[in-house]
Amino acid sequence: MSHRADEEIFQNAIGRLDNAAEFSSIGPEALERLRYPKSMLQVSIPLRMDDGSLRVFQGYRVRHDDTRGPTKGGIRFHPDVHLGEVKALAFWMTCKCAVAGIPFGGGKGGIIVNPKELSRLELERLSRGFIQRVADFIGPETDIPAPDVYTNAMIMGWMMDEYSNIQRRRTPTVITGKPIPLGGSLGRDDATGRGAYYCIKELERLKAWSPPEVRVAVQGFGNAGQHVARLMHADGYRIVAISDSRGGIFRDEGLDIPRAIELKQQRQDLSEVYASRSVCDCPECGCVECHCQPDDAGSGKIITNEELLELDVDILIPAALENQLTAENAERVMAPVIVEVANGPTTTEADAIFNAKETLIVPDILANAGGVTVSYFEWTQNRAGYYWTVEEVHQRLSQIMKREFKLIYELMVTNQIDMRTAAYAHALNRIGEAIESQGTSTFFSTQPTVQPIS
Ligand code: NAD
Repeated sequence: MSHRADEEIFQNAIGRLDNAAEFSSIGPEALERLRYPKSMLQVSIPLRMDDGSLRVFQGYRVRHDDTRGPTKGGIRFHPDVHLGEVKALAFWMTCKCAVAGIPFGGGKGGIIVNPKELSRLELERLSRGFIQRVADFIGPETDIPAPDVYTNAMIMGWMMDEYSNIQRRRTPTVITGKPIPLGGSLGRDDATGRGAYYCIKELERLKAWSPPEVRVAVQGFGNAGQHVARLMHADGYRIVAISDSRGGIFRDEGLDIPRAIELKQQRQDLSEVYASRSVCDCPECGCVECHCQPDDAGSGKIITNEELLELDVDILIPAALENQLTAENAERVMAPVIVEVANGPTTTEADAIFNAKETLIVPDILANAGGVTVSYFEWTQNRAGYYWTVEEVHQRLSQIMKREFKLIYELMVTNQIDMRTAAYAHALNRIGEAIESQGTSTFFSTQPTVQPIS
């Protein structure tokens, strides 16, 4: 990717700032600070492959802003990772932590790799190699990684172990999303999907929805997508389409989500690391290997990811990767409500089209904030050495998600703006207050009107 294209992604992301600042109390100096990541690290990780050959992988870690607390954000393993994307993701994390009102700034990391091509041992060596390279950059009080696309609890466990080896002491607070026996929090596994689900429950209340009448399509059936689909399905919502990287399935009567999850997770190439099954393997019911008898009302059919986005549904949930809803397809997207579980699934150009169509978008920095919120719970539990029940985790998560949803919704209604602008304005109020409490040009000015230090 050219330097210009790489930078464009970050510039697009921070392009949201100016519009939102109008509806926020943030001053120009604080706003200017947010246009630049605090620090960035590029590393190369030599990996001895199982066949004895050597491959060198590129990785990044970016800390965007730490005024409100240590930077926090996931590590992505994906062939398309690039610096501009990691910078944008780190910026979104700064805003997301402020939206959730948790004391963290934003960070992100990634390795350019297709992890599905690696053996389990190669994957472990790569994960540990990354930590060896970034160990001086991260830390429990400075920068705390977590899982993201194609990284999971087991990988977080390896990374925590490697960091602990380097530090010569056990350091669970350096990373979140760990396996439970290694200090992970109960309720972290489904926190992102659950956070989005709590937002949907608020919408249900506001719009007096009857779940069985609400048709839902979910793009991306990984950690985040599976859980939001599972929770909605349990409440009676009609999940008519789901998809993964191999494609999607559609069934008008609704899909059997628990079965789809169970069977997708079976038969793994990299046992307990990646599911090899696809949701497309049994289009009849959305499971991946059963002997279902589709009824006459219509059996399921295989669709593409592009088709899924344009289905006639009431709620569309992008839960895969960024830039899925673009100027090219936004006009054809029929869903009146979009809940962004993925980070950055909607481009700025598509946003303008959706706003003109009055599509209600629950933006990523609110909708998927459940993950980082429970990561914060995990970090506080590790620091305290005292662990909560899953009920406590759910109750605290629900309280935060519903509180912030209401505040942002009110800001949207009061200012007659879209929900994304309202969410950014809400985040900027909190970030601005923190940055400005360190002093502004008014404070440091030598003008006689300035109050002396008392
Ligand atoms: P995951 O690796 O568990 O799942 C990703 C899913 O997307 C898989 O089902 C994969 O097959 C599918 N996918 C990949 N490419 C696709 C494509 N081109 N079209 C359709 N589907 C495709 O990842 P995840 O943790 O569920 O993350 C998904 C999104 O949610 C990402 O944008 C991530 O940044 C965001 N997110 C995740 C968390 C978290 O805690 N896991 C928190 C906040 C945000």
